[in-house]
Amino acid sequence: MGEAKQHVASGEPPGLAGLAARTGADLADLILPVGCAGCAEPGVPLCRTCRDCFSALRRCEEDTVLLAGGTGFPTWTSSSYTGAVRHIVLAWKSGARADLAAPVYELGRHAGRRLAEQLELGHPTSPGALAEPQLLVVPAPSGWRRRLARRLVAADLARAVAHGVAETTGSTVWAADILRRSGVSTHGLGASARARSGRRSVRSRSTVPPGLPVLIVDDVVTTGATIEACRRRLRSCGGQVAGAYALAATPPPGRTTLEGEEARVTEC
Ligand SMILES: [Zn+2]
Repeated sequence: MGEAKQHVASGEPPGLAGLAARTGADLADLILPVGCAGCAEPGVPLCRTCRDCFSALRRCEEDTVLLAGGTGFPTWTSSSYTGAVRHIVLAWKSGARADLAAPVYELGRHAGRRLAEQLELGHPTSPGALAEPQLLVVPAPSGWRRRLARRLVAADLARAVAHGVAETTGSTVWAADILRRSGVSTHGLGASARARSGRRSVRSRSTVPPGLPVLIVDDVVTTGATIEACRRRLRSCGGQVAGAYALAATPPPGRTTLEGEEARVTEC
């Protein structure tokens, strides 16, 4: 693969080093009291109650328009994209709350540990050898605005998930940001229009080693169009796409919870 890869069996959360080079606005976050991005509880970027909203791991493909219908493509999520979860994810994605980088990384790492139980990975090679990867984690492509601003949230989440899988299984896991958007943005289009354009909206900067299982990671899944476009592209590049993960999934129209998800006591 031409793309630089990251062995994530160990390492620090991304962005922590970058926190040392904060802008003036970010410094203000350090000085002024901040509250939980989900519920405004003072003193913490993410309180325990809101963090617990992401503790489950459930399948969500049947909640999407394009992945539903027995396609057999497993898609997991940690939460439904409603209430406090939506506030948290939006604050994280927009860059408005740089202090969410570390706690959201831990959410992704936790999801990776849970996903390790779901993914059928090969056994690690002997210690000391340059281990062959057992999984490639690929983030959904970010748009050029986010890429210019270096707010690559899906790539950060992919590294966190890879970290969790690697530390749980002892496997070598790669995270590689190889997909790019191409053509016009599909944002704002309906599900069918996004599906029609999805196949040509994602390109890959690299092939995938034949037979290497691939997990797609995105921040939020709604119609499934982006994940479906990524799946098709990665398959055409030689990947054996095992599934997808999103931090949150939008419930189907008219519902406030995902399939099989119980209404929460707290307003997540
Ligand atoms: Zn909270």
